[in-house]
Amino acid sequence: MTGRTGKPVDAFAQTPPARPLIDHFGRHITYLRLSVTDRCDLRCVYCMKARPEFLPKSELLTLEELTQLADAFIARGVSKIRVTGGEPLVRRDVMTLIENLGARIGSTGLEEVCLTTNATQLPRFAGRLAAAGVKRVNISLDTLDAATFARLTRGGKLADTLAGIDAADAAGLKVKINTVALKDDNEHSLRQLIAWAHGRGFDTTLIEIMPLGEVDAARSDQFLSLAEVKADLEQGWTLTPLSDKTGGPARYHRVEETGGRLGLITPLTENFCAGCNRVRLTCTGQLYMCLGRNGRLDLRAALREGGMDAVDALLDEAMALKPEAHDFDVSAGASPEVGRTMAHTGG
Ligand code: SAM
Ligand code: SF4
Repeated sequence: MTGRTGKPVDAFAQTPPARPLIDHFGRHITYLRLSVTDRCDLRCVYCMKARPEFLPKSELLTLEELTQLADAFIARGVSKIRVTGGEPLVRRDVMTLIENLGARIGSTGLEEVCLTTNATQLPRFAGRLAAAGVKRVNISLDTLDAATFARLTRGGKLADTLAGIDAADAAGLKVKINTVALKDDNEHSLRQLIAWAHGRGFDTTLIEIMPLGEVDAARSDQFLSLAEVKADLEQGWTLTPLSDKTGGPARYHRVEETGGRLGLITPLTENFCAGCNRVRLTCTGQLYMCLGRNGRLDLRAALREGGMDAVDALLDEAMALKPEAHDFDVSAGASPEVGRTMAHTGG
C-alpha cells in the first residue's frame, strides 16, 4: 500500500502531518467516522423507516477505496477512525478493512480504530476485533425490556445484543453503551439501564434524538430533552460534572451512587459544535463536514478520476467548507433540514 505521495504508508511513520486538517474556525480535524454500509439487521424506529430503500451494493466504496481514503486522512493527521454504518458488522469484508486499519496503528499517525455497533454480530467478531487492535466499542442499547427492544428495533432480539455485549466484554474490549432517549418508549427506564451498565463497568451515554431523515413517526413525538432526563435522574442520584474531554460532544458526569460515568449528548438543548474535531465519510464516499448540514464533497469521484492527489485537494476544500454549527429543529411540523438518515451518513 502506498500513500498519496507514492511512498509506502510506513514512510509517514510517527512524523507530524505536513498539512494538518484545520478548518476556518481553527478546529483541528483528527477524527474520521467511516461508514461502510447503510444496511442493517435491525430497523430502529428513530433511525430508519420500516421498509428502507438501501443503496445498490455497486454504489459502495470498495474495500480498497475505503482503505485508500482512510490513508488520505491519516496522512493529514487523522488519529482516530470510527467504523460505523448502518450496521458495520453486516458488511461482508468489514473485518479485512478493520484489520488493514489496525495494522496502521503505531506505524502511522493513526492511534485508534474503534467501532459503533448494535452488537448482534459481536459473538462472531469480538475476538477478531480485539486481535486487530480495536480496544473500544460503542454499543447501542435503548432498553433492557425484551418486548420494548423488539418494538423499537422492529423485530430485534434483546438476547442477541446482550450476547454481543458479553462477547465484547469477554474479548477485553472496553464497552460503552449508547442510548437514545425516547419520549414514552424508554423515558421511565433510563435509570435502570444506566444502573445495569455501570454495574457491569460500562460507561453510558445518553443521546438526544436528531431530526435526520424521514422516519415513520414525527420527531416531535420521539424527542425527549436530556435536560428533563437529567433533572429526573437527579431525584435520587448525584451527578458530578467531570472535566473529561474526549473531543466528542458528550458532557460527562460521575454518578456517585453507581460509581459509573454518564455522558450526555445534547445537540438540541445545548450546542456542542465549538469543539468539533470530526468529519464523516459515507459508504459511497461522500464527505460530510457536519452531521446536521447538507454540504458534502465527493471523494469517490475524486479518487476514481484524479487519484490520491485529487482527494488531498478536496480535503483542503472540506476545511474551507466545514460550517460552524448544525441547525437542528425538532419542533412539531418541522421537516428535516437533513434528508439523509443517521444510517446513511454513518452514526
Ligand atoms: N448500527 C450501529 C448502532 O446502532 O450502533 C451503528 C450505526 S447507528 C446509525 C449509530 C448511532 O446512531 C446509534 O447509537 C443510534 O442509536 C444513533 N441514531 C440513529 N438515528 C438517530 C437519530 N435520529 N438521532 C440520534 N441518534 C440516532
Ligand atoms: Fe441499525 Fe444502528 Fe440504525 Fe438501529 S441505529 S437501525 S442498529 S443502523
